[in-house]
This record gives sequence, C-alpha cells and structure tokens, in this order.
Amino acid sequence: MDFIQVMSYFAKAQHERERLQYFASPEGREDLYQYNQKERRTVLEVLQDFPSVQMPFEWLVQLVPPMKTRAFSVSSSLLAHPNQVHLTVSVVSWMTPYKRKRNGLCSTWLAGLDPQLSIYIPAWFHEGSLPRPPPSLPLILVGPGTGCAPFRGFVEERAIQSLSGPTAPIIFFFGCRNEESDYLYKELWLHHSQNEGVLSEAKGGGFYVAFSRDQPQKVYVQHKMLEQSQRIWNLLVAKASIYVAGSSTKMPSDVWSTFEEIVSREGGISRDFAAIWLKALNREGKYHVEAWS
Ligand SMILES: Cc1cc2nc3c(=O)[nH]c(=O)nc-3n(C[C@H](O)[C@H](O)[C@H](O)COP(=O)(O)OP(=O)(O)OC[C@H]3O[C@@H](n4cnc5c(N)ncnc54)[C@H](O)[C@@H]3O)c2cc1C
Repeated sequence: MDFIQVMSYFAKAQHERERLQYFASPEGREDLYQYNQKERRTVLEVLQDFPSVQMPFEWLVQLVPPMKTRAFSVSSSLLAHPNQVHLTVSVVSWMTPYKRKRNGLCSTWLAGLDPQLSIYIPAWFHEGSLPRPPPSLPLILVGPGTGCAPFRGFVEERAIQSLSGPTAPIIFFFGCRNEESDYLYKELWLHHSQNEGVLSEAKGGGFYVAFSRDQPQKVYVQHKMLEQSQRIWNLLVAKASIYVAGSSTKMPSDVWSTFEEIVSREGGISRDFAAIWLKALNREGKYHVEAWS
C-alpha cells in the first residue's frame, strides 16, 4: 500500500481524504506526479499539507523509505594524503516548476558542517567505474565541474610516483563557468603543468581549461579538445586510456563525438571508422566513464 493511500485512511477532514483518494486513484496519477515528484516534496511537507492526517508513528516508520546512500568519487590520493579521503562536492539546488527552491539533501548538509568540528559519517568504499591507472599508462582525462574529483587523485598520485621513477604523461581537460567563481583546484593543476610536472606539455601532457561563461560564446571542454587534437592523437597512438567524469546530461555523449572527430581527423579515416575504432578502445577497457545527474 502506498503512502498517499495510507494517508487517506487516516485523514480526519473529508476534503483532505477525498483529495488523497483522488491522488491514489489512476485518474489522479498525473496530478500526484506534478504535486509530488515534480515538486520534490518531502514526507514532512506532504504531512503538513494535510494536517488532519493523524498517522500512527509505527505506520509512518514502516512506510517512509530509508534514505538512499549518495556516491562520491574519491578525489585524493592515499600517497599524497595518507589516512585521508577527500571529496569534491557541489551543492545541488534548483527551482521546481512552481518556483520553490529545492536543495539537495546530502550536499547541502555536507556544506553546512563546521570544518572545525569532528564528525563521524558512515562511509562504504566501492571500486567505481574508473580503475586506478598504473604509472606507465598515458592518460587523457576529461572532467568538467566536479568531474575533476577523481582526477585530482590521479594527478596527485602520479606526481608522487614521478619522484621515484618514470611515469607516463597526463592530458587533462577541465571546464567551469568562470575563472573567478568555480575554477576548482586551480593552483594544483597549474602547479603540475609547470616545471616538467605530470601535466606539463614538456612531459607530453597538458592542462586545458574551458571557461564556458567568460566570453559571449560558450566554450566547453569539447572545444578545448578539438584545439589539442594532435596532442590527443599522439597520446592515443601511445596507447593512452581515456577517462571521462562529471555530469551525465549531455557531456559524455558530446565528449565521445569529439573523440570520434579527432580520431577521424588525425587518423585520416572516416567518421564511421573512427566510431568503430573508439568502440574497440572501449571494449579493450581503455575508455572509462563515471557520470551522474
Ligand atoms: C558514481 C557516482 C559518483 C559521484 N561523484 C560525485 C562527486 O564526486 N561529487 C559530487 O558533487 N557528486 C557526485 N555524485 C552525485 C552525488 O551522489 C549526489 O547525487 C549529489 O551530491 C546530490 O545529492 P544530494 O543529496 O545533495 O541531492 P538530492 O537530495 O539527492 O537531490 C538530487 C536529486 O534532485 C534532482 N534534481 C537535481 N537537480 C535538479 C533539477 N535542476 N531539476 C529537477 N530535479 C533535479 C535529481 O533527481 C537528483 O537526483 C556522484 C554520483 C555517482 C552515481
């Protein structure tokens, strides 16, 4: 039995009971969707909208689903920060169709914590979809926004490995809105792009950033990738792996088509063959994507 149906049983006011029964009926499904899912109402808000509902506590506990866990990419290297795990979290917020501001539960809570206080948070570690690359593997990383999270760890790790032996280069494409507002870890990337660092062009790597809103026309990571198509191709020929992380909306498919274009252009093959070539790379386990909405 669903929550709205149970609420209708416990509603004391007739108009509330009728409204809830309508929501629970097949005819009311679309209105319920607009009222509930589209507006992302919480259980508490729904109960407040129907104040005559006197649901016994044990029913409430049984019906409310457990809070879902949130996944975050580990954005630090254990070599660089022993016994620590860093996260890079963006605070989620948006407007509903009825112009109610909604804040993401976990990201807002994390952002509100006092950094001076210690707090225990239950955490589970899973191997994600981005395998840890060995130091000898050349890397092409594409991580706009918080998509840079896993790559911060990769760059930190390789920088430390490079102190004790040879390491393969990394090319990293980062993107954000403005240089002033959301250029995450600017110093870190710039530091490793200089003085023969792991992201330096001198070492066969590179760091390229797209500021989408700093000029009239939008510039995204794909544009920066096309500008560096020769470098990307050189690294692909050197058996590089591709890692893509960030928003799942349009970015992963746009980045895939950009790689198709680069392989076609630099490899001198048709777009169709470029697609086959990339699919083969994917099958070999050399094209990894971790994307979220
Ligand atoms: C494998 C993986 C790795 C991840 N890594 C990271 C990471 O490194 N950093 C990071 O910040 N996040 C990461 N995420 C996303 C993270 O797990 C959470 O989804 C995110 O932080 C939001 O959680 P929340 O509790 O703040 O928001 P919630 O309360 O869960 O609300 C978010 C939900 O609101 C809805 N929503 C959001 N925006 C809108 C909108 N504009 N319009 C309508 N509905 C909307 C969506 O349904 C979304 O799922 C990752 C996710 C996965 C699956």
